[in-house]
Amino acid sequence: MVDQTEPGGTRAGDDVIVLAHCPLSRIRLLWRHGQRCDDLPPMLPDQWLSVQNTGRVLRDCAIIDPVELTLSPSWCIALQSDHPVAQRAAEELRAGLVQLGGPELALAAASDGPQLNLSHGLAGDGFVRAPAANGLALRGDGPRGLLYAVYDLLETLGLRWPSPGVLATPTPLPQPLWLPPSAISDHPALPVRSLVLGHDLFLAEAEAWIAWAARNRLNTIFVHTTIHEPALGACRLATWRARREQLLPLLRSYGMRIELGGHHLRDLLPRRFFRRKPELFRYDGQQRNPDHNFCVSNPQTHAILRQMATAFFQAYPEAEVYHVWPDDLRGHGWCQCAACASLSPADQVLMATNTLAEALVALRPTAQVSFLAYHDSAYGPKVQPHPAVVLLVAPRLRSYAVGLDAPANGPLAEQLSACVAAFGGGNPNSPQAKLGSFEYYLDGILFKSAPPPLPEVIASDLRYYQQAGLGSLHVLLTGDRPFLHAPPNAYLFARLAWEPQGDPQQLLNDYASARAPHHPPSLISAYRALSQAWQPVLNREPVLEAPPAPAHGLRDPITHPPTDLLDLLDITSRDAELRLEALHKATLQLEQGYAAWEELGAPNIPAAFAAEYAEWEVGAKLLTYIRLRQQLYVLVGRNASRSALREALTEAQRALDALYAWADTHVPKRAQANHRLLRAALQLQLDQIADQRIHNPFARLGLRARRAKDLVKLLPGMVPLAIVDCRL
Ligand SMILES: [Zn+2]
Repeated sequence: MVDQTEPGGTRAGDDVIVLAHCPLSRIRLLWRHGQRCDDLPPMLPDQWLSVQNTGRVLRDCAIIDPVELTLSPSWCIALQSDHPVAQRAAEELRAGLVQLGGPELALAAASDGPQLNLSHGLAGDGFVRAPAANGLALRGDGPRGLLYAVYDLLETLGLRWPSPGVLATPTPLPQPLWLPPSAISDHPALPVRSLVLGHDLFLAEAEAWIAWAARNRLNTIFVHTTIHEPALGACRLATWRARREQLLPLLRSYGMRIELGGHHLRDLLPRRFFRRKPELFRYDGQQRNPDHNFCVSNPQTHAILRQMATAFFQAYPEAEVYHVWPDDLRGHGWCQCAACASLSPADQVLMATNTLAEALVALRPTAQVSFLAYHDSAYGPKVQPHPAVVLLVAPRLRSYAVGLDAPANGPLAEQLSACVAAFGGGNPNSPQAKLGSFEYYLDGILFKSAPPPLPEVIASDLRYYQQAGLGSLHVLLTGDRPFLHAPPNAYLFARLAWEPQGDPQQLLNDYASARAPHHPPSLISAYRALSQAWQPVLNREPVLEAPPAPAHGLRDPITHPPTDLLDLLDITSRDAELRLEALHKATLQLEQGYAAWEELGAPNIPAAFAAEYAEWEVGAKLLTYIRLRQQLYVLVGRNASRSALREALTEAQRALDALYAWADTHVPKRAQANHRLLRAALQLQLDQIADQRIHNPFARLGLRARRAKDLVKLLPGMVPLAIVDCRL
């Protein structure tokens, strides 16, 4: 790619310097005197021009003699801007240099002595770093670009931020501290790189996540909210209200964009209106029903939406993009009245979203609201989107064994193309912020409390999104407990969102070198082994059909245990046998993973690794449970004897008990109820087999009595969840 790039349309004669920007990578090339150079020459800060435009000719750049670039206490950090993000950049630089063993430098508005000169333009995340007459100069396209220039410099000197609250420093520390003599320029390939805070547990530790995100050059925090209970996959809106006074100044000091919302569409049409005005609500095929969404063909519905949405936007003015999505359903929640019957789910959603956009731009012309392409609204809409509506595709029902570009995920790629076309099409050379994706690499609910390492999948996906012209990438951070150490997917996502063409293996090497400088190959092996062991679980066809409509009334949770995408109970017995075989083979990979950890000190793991090892270990234990559960299902499919089933059930129960034992040690008390509530699904899946295939009637009664008791134990922790402020 680099070699094919030419400085098209510009003059590359003598004494001019040409920067050529390769559109699919962040690499810029330099021609000087008609010859390609590898690095930018040193330039004085006032000689910099914007380097955003392809092939722009710069003014002559005087070659200057750089000062000695060894940092000493006589240096200072010079910054004239009083912009809070620029001030944050200076503070981060000063602190980072100390962490590297350097001197604590003074901050100054101006200085004649040796200096790190910080400056910035109006806006943008790109930056340039170059030796200057009296030291080293860092210039951001905007204040945030300056902040990223600082982090880039600190990384060049050896710092890394692999997980919130975890700092990796080079070993040994560089003495003395030499500043890099070469000049570089860099900018992100994608304009919006976003971490989604998706549970109160993560909102409680938001300060650490925000700092981590900024240092890894994510520029957006999306607070994913709900007003409904139990709040399993989103933050309570009331919690955000309580925390935002503290968090907004912090977010602004890092230059973070803010997005806000979730499945709030139903909240804009209060269900209490149903008694007086049932015609506002959806027709379910038999009658008007307030259970989900509403009727989008009734003008009165839109009038209420407009009014309620205005109040919502006014109550939360901090966001640039709002997310007001329909109910989180796979089918069966749409209006089928005569006027709506011909409207697809996507069109019903977009008609409502367009009304929200009208209300929003009347308040704030630059704010936007998202249309969620998810489950059965993922097929492209025919309705024209309002200019303030942005696209957000969320392909949760996919295979995570491979990237979106792989044939296995072909149907979802088609859905994405249709949605992008409905929003005016995408240009890979210029990914647009109005086209976004919502991904699940850090989703502790989808991945059952243990997201697997997905380096190649994340890299393939992000390249795919870039090629499709998507410029906003969000990753959902949610789960039933706080992570002891962030899954490596966090680091990989942030890096690849900056540069989707990055090499995932190189990034994993970089991560491992930061975390385990004495044994990086061992840590890489441990993650590679876990990643491969997950393959049989992740390898599945995308789900395209909605499940049958749920029966009315309460369902017996033992007869109908809750299941999710990765439970794979819908496959044929032949596929179940093949999957079991693959899971048996994966035990070898887990053994290799454990052996790699032994090289890192397991079981007497050093304190610095304890949290990361525990996270790896829970993934391995979960896979053991899934394998033994699969064995049980296969035996049921084979009509095995009751004693064989009982033996298999005992094994699977032992694996589940090992997960509970892990949780007793590693899940903080405040998250225990949440964690056990989601783990209960795994127990109920075993109970179903015991109930239907093994137990006699007395034992079945006993099982139900025990589960009822378990639920009562969970309830004290859950009761406070139900007593919350549900006002918008
Ligand atoms: Zn209708």
